[in-house]
Order: sequence, then structure tokens, then C-alpha cells
Amino acid sequence: MTKIKIQEEISNLVELLNKYSYQYYVENNPEISDTQYDLLYKKLENLENNYPDYILKNSPTQRVGDKVLSEFLKVEHKTPMLSLSNTFSIDDLIEFDNRIKRLLNTTEDIEYVCELKIDGLAVSLTYENGELISGATRGDGVIGEDITENLKTIISIPKQLTEQVNIEVRGEVYMPKKSFYLINEQRSKNNEQLFANPRNAAAGSIRQLDSKITASRKLSAFIYTIANNSKENSQINSLNKIKELGLPVNNHFKLCKNIEEVTNYIKYWENSKQDLSYDIDGIVIKVNNKNFQEQLGFTQKSPKWATSYKFAEEEVATKIIDIELSVGRTGVVTPVANLEPIKISGSTISKASLHNKDIIDELDIHIGDTVVVKKAGEIIPQVIKVIPELRNTNSTKYSFPKHCPSCDSILISNEDNPFIRCTNASCPEQNIKKIIYFASRDAMNIDGLGDKVIIQLFSNNIINNVIDLYNLDKEKLLDLERMGEKSVNNLLNSIEKSKKTELDKVIYSLGILNIGKKASIILAKKYKSLTKFLEANYEELIELDDIGDISAKAIIDYLKVQENINLINSLISIGINPTYKESILKENIFSNKTVVLTGKLTELTRNEAKKYLETFNAKITNSVTKNTDYLICGEKAGSKLKKAQNLNIPILFENQFIDIIKGDNNE
Ligand code: NAD
Repeated sequence: MTKIKIQEEISNLVELLNKYSYQYYVENNPEISDTQYDLLYKKLENLENNYPDYILKNSPTQRVGDKVLSEFLKVEHKTPMLSLSNTFSIDDLIEFDNRIKRLLNTTEDIEYVCELKIDGLAVSLTYENGELISGATRGDGVIGEDITENLKTIISIPKQLTEQVNIEVRGEVYMPKKSFYLINEQRSKNNEQLFANPRNAAAGSIRQLDSKITASRKLSAFIYTIANNSKENSQINSLNKIKELGLPVNNHFKLCKNIEEVTNYIKYWENSKQDLSYDIDGIVIKVNNKNFQEQLGFTQKSPKWATSYKFAEEEVATKIIDIELSVGRTGVVTPVANLEPIKISGSTISKASLHNKDIIDELDIHIGDTVVVKKAGEIIPQVIKVIPELRNTNSTKYSFPKHCPSCDSILISNEDNPFIRCTNASCPEQNIKKIIYFASRDAMNIDGLGDKVIIQLFSNNIINNVIDLYNLDKEKLLDLERMGEKSVNNLLNSIEKSKKTELDKVIYSLGILNIGKKASIILAKKYKSLTKFLEANYEELIELDDIGDISAKAIIDYLKVQENINLINSLISIGINPTYKESILKENIFSNKTVVLTGKLTELTRNEAKKYLETFNAKITNSVTKNTDYLICGEKAGSKLKKAQNLNIPILFENQFIDIIKGDNNE
């Protein structure tokens, strides 16, 4: 990058981050998530570290918070109210520990106090002779807003301490989750704008000109530091003193003997934070010894003796290099973004889904754009936001191709849905995907026939469709690369074995639009054989449980196409002609119930448990709600177990679950 480009990028980032800071601190109405903010901030910080000459005076890295609201009286803080440096990974944290040891010139373990990082807003409280006389926001760190009357409405903040001391303490005002939900429910009824999160709700509620409004918002507070007149020689002793004075202290703090104990504390709370009745956005790690704190001192923005560990939301910012199209088995063409590789929750990603043309248009994606990518669970990462302010001026808007990337046929769009399709029945990529689907675990479950082998067979003209799988020539297979006698025999055996697949799975393997595993079981139960299924009609289908208009039409459309009829007839003539066995759908306590699995099962796998439950038509969901019928609980169950207990949902431990399975097998 040229120097001008770097200056331009720094200036763009400063302007953008200042806009977001204003929305966050002054308007309490952030447009982007904290993670998105933090990653742009980090980007700016890195550029500034590499090019310190280009640091701008108004850069957010050079100051704390933002402007104070003019409606409030201004209060000057006697000692500045600073921010905290951030760490985002255990590696960052170890680097923090090493830095402390370097600065203190020691190799000994450092004692740290870990505290929950309450997601609210910082306040300062001044007591004279034990009486609360003033309270202020942090503001820009030097000047805050006078919110004394509002703070007095918070029940957990004592107006009188247990001792007649002159003291200034600092802490966090927050809104408990329950109050947040109730307030947003009320605001929704009144057609008022909803608060984005409890932090913004707390900030909006404490900065009210009418204290009655603050009082109605059910705020609370935790105090974590003594800002002046502290005689305590450690953070632990300060916290105990704050408690003694009758101030609210969050009781989850812990004295850790070394950085390993700190990482264990972090891991524990990363998994348990949802059980708290208030939001935390990380852990604050403070050197315990006050002498050490004094030796370490401060930067312009934060103490060097403390840092925060921010919990990862699974979001990162990176650039789109280009967009690739992938053709699915039904002809739907899905755009996938090729990204500049980046780490997200421990793994490096270089691709993200863009779903369909409408989403690309809505996001207004240009090639080269900086985008925010989010990863949720095991699902492929998604592009959720573009940052147009960081767009290159000469970038071009992405326009969706008109032709199929696999067979060059014209792509067809449909007004009813946003998907673009290739309708060419002999499109190679579509056919490969059909075969992959047919052989997959939930369908014909053909062992040894993975994606790579299918592509190899297809590109060597050995197979063109699923029927060809049943006429493979052993000699031709042996001629292929990486195909030895043993793997060819195994493959042929598993293909032969697949002829015995149950009817519901054969129906599923046809890949009819909208027909998943559950619908396939219902169809198998109704038609009992492929021959009868070929005669299905709309009126019959629509009568079936769980087969709605869309699915019924999809089946009829499928059965109208001669090639599909030929396929089913060919399967029958090969010997794939199962009849439905009534015993598949037996009744037991799980029949048609909603079940959640949690914890580690030891006697069977999660998949086996799910498979068993699905044979009773049970619906398996991820979270415990009042609609859950049973929670099946393995080892080390956590929040789901607690929630089920709170909601009085029947809980079956693994041994009880196994007893039910055994009982069924003995019938
Ligand atoms: P911070 O929230 O990252 O950390 C410092 C603050 O932590 C302290 O001022 C204090 O209020 C709080 N805190 C909570 N528990 C504490 C404890 N036990 N001990 C000490 N402090 C504790 O820093 P900040 O300067 O308040 O805010 C910066 C952050 O705000 C950014 O990292 C970003 O996540 C967020 N932000 C978001 C946007 C947005 O648009 N979404 C904009 C600006 C800032």
C-alpha cells in the first residue's frame, strides 16, 4: 500500500469509528455490534502502531468514551476515569502476563484478581462522611455528567455507608436481563424504538433528565474500585473493604495465583455466563498487589496493570476476493464468497455463504469489499454486513451471471422466490450433486462413495447418474488412480448392500424438493412401495400429516417428469424395491414429543440417540423451552439441565433413557 493509501485508510477508519462511538456513547443506539466495532478498532490500532506518524488527534485510540450530553451539569473527575485494554485470545492474555513480568523485572508468578466484566456503564460515586453526595458518568474520562439524583434511585446503591468516610468509588450500573426484556416488551406495545441490548438500555435510563424515569427502569450496580483515600494494599482487600462499607460487590471475583488459573476462570465463565441474571461481555484481570500496580502505571487510555478479556462473538471482518457460484442438485445456483483467509473461533476460513442474488443486492456487495462474517455453530460462515465506508473507490458492484457456471445454460429466475436456477437436466455439476445426495448417509448410505470418488467416477465417464452405480465394471474401477483391489471390492459390496435400504430412505434419496427425512417416512408409511408411490396424487398427499401444499405440489411436479419415473422404475428393476414395515413407527413415550439432548452420552452417540427418537416421530430441538416434553441428560450437563429443572420439564438421565430403549427392543 502506498503512504497516501495508508493515510486514507487511517482517516476513513477514524471517521467511521467516531461515528459509531457517537451512536454508542451519546445516542445509546449503536448501529453495529461491539465485536464489529472492536475489530475495526483493532485494524486502526495495528495501522497506527506501524505508522505512528499518521496517528490523528481525533483518533478513538487517543481518548476514552465520547462527548458528554450538554443537558447535564458537567463534573470534572479528580482522577481520570479510564478504559481498559482488551485481549481477545488466551495468547493475547499470556502476552499480557509476560509484559507485566518484563515490566516488573520478575520471572515469579503474578497474582491476579479476576472479576466479571459487567456490561453496563461506568459511574463514579462520591461519599462525604459516609453520605452519597455526588455521582457521575465516565463521559470522556476527564469530564462526566452529573447524574446524582438518578443514581440515588438505584436501590442497591446505599445513600449512607457503614462508616463515616470520605471516599470515591467506581463501578458499573447495569440493567438485569429481566428488566431489559420487560422494558422492551412495554416499548414494543407503545410502538417505541427498542433498546439494542441491556447496556444501551442502562445507559439510556441513567442519562434521563427526569429521575422518575430512571427509577422505573430497575437498574442495579456493582462497585469494583476505590478511586481515592484507599489504604488497602491489594485489589482483593479493596473489594472486601467496599463490601464492608455496604456497597454492592459482585461476588464472583477470584484471586488467581498465576495466569493458568486466570485462563481456567475465563473458560468457566465463557460457558456459564448465560446463567447470570445480567450481561457480562468478558472478564477483567487486575494485578492484585497495589505496589505492583503503582510501578506499572497507566497509558493515556488505560491502566497497564489490568486488561479485559472480551468473550468472542463469532464475527470477523475480512475482504471479499471474488464470488464463486455453486450449482446444487436441484439446479439452485448459490453464490459463495471467496475471502481473504481469516481466523474465526480457532479455525481459518476462506469462504462464506451469500445465500442468493437478493441478499447480494441487498448487501450491495462489491468485489474487494470489507465485510463482516459471522459463524454460528457448525454452519458455514455467512456474510452479514458490508462496510461501505471502507470500499475502494474503483471497485465494481457484483452482477449475478446470466449463465450456469457448469453447463453455460441460461439461468432462470422466478418471481416467487429469490433463487436462480439452472434447469438443464444434463448439467454436470447438478448431476454430480444428485449422486452425492443419493449416496449420502441419510439416503442410501453407501460406504466408500464419498464426494471425491463420485467426482472421479463422473469425470472419467464411468457414471452419469445414480443407476450407473449399479452397473459398475470392476476392471474399469481398478484402472482409476487410488483405486486398489480392496477399496474397489469394498465399494462394490456397499453398493450391493444399499439395495436393501428401507423405503423411506429410498424416497428421501430421490431428492424431491422440500421432502426431508420426516416427510419421507410419512410417504413410506402411506404408499408402502415405490410402485404405489408412483401413483400418488395431490388430494391424497395433502391429507397427510406434515405434507402441506408446497410439498404435495413438489411431489406431483416430480412425478410428472418422465426422467424421474424412469429413474424410479430403474431402481425397482435393479432390485431396489423395499416394502414398508409397519414396525418402524412404533409408539412410546417419545411419540410426537419435543425432546432436547444435553451433556455427553456415554453408551450411545448423539446421532444414535437422535435416530432412535426420530423413529417415534419425536421432534429434536436445541433449546429447552416450556414446550419441551423431555430433556435427555448425559454427563456434565449445564445450563439446559438447570433450565429444565426451573421449568419443571421431565428429565431422563442416560441410564433411564437406555432402559426405555432396552424395553422397546425386548417387546
Ligand atoms: P470497555 O467496555 O471495553 O472496558 C472498560 C470498562 O469496563 C470500564 O470503563 C468499566 O465501565 C467496565 N467494567 C465492567 N466491569 C468492570 C470491572 N469489574 N472492573 C473494571 N472495569 C469494569 O471499554 P469502554 O471504553 O467502556 O468501551 C469501549 C468498548 O465499547 C469497545 O471495545 C466496544 O466494544 C464498545 N463500543 C461499541 C460501539 C458500537 O458501535 N457498538 C461503539 C463504541 C464502543
